[in-house]
Order: sequence, then structure tokens, then C-alpha cells
Amino acid sequence: MSDKPENGLKQELDRRKRINRIKSIIVSFVGIWMLASVILCATLFVKVIHLENNLNKVLQNMPQVEQVENEETKNSPDADTGKNVECGKQDQTGQDDANKKKADDGEKLKVYLTFDDGPSTNTQQILDILKQYNVKATFFVIGKTDDLSKEMYKKIVEEGHTLGMHSYSHKYSVIYDSMSAFEQDFNQIHDYLKEVTGVDCKYYRFPGGSSNQVSNSDMREFIRYLNDRGITYYDWNVSSGDATSQAYTADELIQNVMGDVTKYKTSVVLMHDSAVKPATVEALPALIEQLQGIGAEILPIDENTATVHHVSIDGEQGQ
Ligand SMILES: [Zn+2]
Repeated sequence: MSDKPENGLKQELDRRKRINRIKSIIVSFVGIWMLASVILCATLFVKVIHLENNLNKVLQNMPQVEQVENEETKNSPDADTGKNVECGKQDQTGQDDANKKKADDGEKLKVYLTFDDGPSTNTQQILDILKQYNVKATFFVIGKTDDLSKEMYKKIVEEGHTLGMHSYSHKYSVIYDSMSAFEQDFNQIHDYLKEVTGVDCKYYRFPGGSSNQVSNSDMREFIRYLNDRGITYYDWNVSSGDATSQAYTADELIQNVMGDVTKYKTSVVLMHDSAVKPATVEALPALIEQLQGIGAEILPIDENTATVHHVSIDGEQGQ
């Protein structure tokens, strides 16, 4: 008689045990699934951060010469029509498009050949060619401490060319990180060139130009800083194209320049003094001959040179 209720109770207990076991399994499964999801998310997050860091490192450590490619691609002559080309030394507010107009009043075209990123193993050759044609140019140099570079800084000055600054490190991520970083880099190149050559450099070219798309900081802050220090910055309105591609032949570089210099009364021509850009050196003699052939004056940047700015202090920005 008493077996039945006991059996029933036992069965009920067994059933509850089974249910509890199944519940435990389900809870464990859900727990494991949630844990796995969290781990997966965390792993993905770490990977994304890692990739981001790698990307930043790649951007930071891009060889100095390659970084300049941004200058070209962002600021090709074709995109130049909307740029501010200003007249008058350090007059950042006074926009003057006189230089944009084709020189049709008989005035000689003024052409300023500028070489960025040097010194390099090509500097000597560039200097020799310039000397051969009795032409003065402008070198926007970066900080290099080897003996050859020191010799080249001095030669640039001794041979009557303009020595301009192009930052010490040429690392966008460093220079444009903050105002203090920019100031530190600026002082470093300024003081270093003063120490090596005795020249108190007055001209600056921003790595990537003032309209570079790499800087996260407001370039106008840096422009203001340069203005306060009495430094004139120069962008360019004519590009040889030697920054965009090493595939350009010397002839193509010449065509690029010759195709644009007649558009302006004052042309500031972007070229590079770099070991990996032999076409620039190769192009130089014929380029000078052709420029002289059209009656252009080839000059070094000085206090009378009309400024060419992509971005100016009042915030107006070119295309
Ligand atoms: Zn550069």
C-alpha cells in the first residue's frame, strides 16, 4: 500500500533532478556561449586596435620621400586653380590673384625652382647643373647629420642658392601632432641649419604643403606661429610631378613644368632632391634650357618673391 506513494515521490524527485540537470546544462551552455561571444568581441577589438596601430606606424614611418607623394596627389597643378596665390611678402590676408593670370603684359615670367627633401646623394649633381647654367634655386631641406649632408647645406649657401626649411624630421605624424611638437621640430631644423651654415633661415615649406590632408591639427595654427616668427612659408603652384611617381621620365617632368609655368607670372615649381628620383636630375638641364628659351627668369626665393600659399591665415583654402 505504502509503496505507491513512495514510488510516485521518487519518480517526481527523479523528474525534478532531470529537469534541474537539463536546466544546468542549458544555463552552462548559455554561459559558455556568452563567454565565447565576449572573448570573440574582445579579440576582434584587440585586433582592430592592433591594425589601427599598425596603420599609424606605417603612416608615421613612411620613408621621408614617399610621404611627399601626398603633396603631389593632393595638390596637383590641376587642382591648383582655386589655390590662394598671394602677392607680397607675408601678407597672408591680402589675396592677390595677379600671379594666377597669364603674364601677357610683357613682364618676364618668374620661375622659382624648389627642391624638397634634400640633401641627398643627388644634391651635388643638382648644384653642378645649376652652376653650369648660372641659375640659382631654392632648397627646402630636412635634418640630416651625416658629413655629406652637412657639406651640401654649406654648398647650397656658398653657391648662392636659398636655403629653406622643410622640417627636421619630415614625419607628418610627429610634426603635426601638436603645436609644441611643431615648434620643437621647427626650432630643431632652424637651429641646426644655423649651426651648420650660419644662415638664419627665413623660408619654410610644410611637409605635404600647407594644404596637406595628413595633419590632424589646424594648419593655420602653424602658419600663425611661422608668421609670428617672421618666417615665410611657400607652397607651390607648378609641380614637376616627381613626387607622384618615380615612373615619370625626365621628358615628362619637363612637360609637366613647361605646361604650367606660362599660366602664372610667378611660378614656384615643386621638385625633389632625392636619391630615388634620378629623373629630376636628368630633367634639369633641358628644363632650364627650355625655361630660358621662353624668356623666363629663374630665381632663388628671396624677400621679393610673391608668396604662393595653398592655405592662408584667414582660413581660405584652395582646392
Ligand atoms: Zn617633403
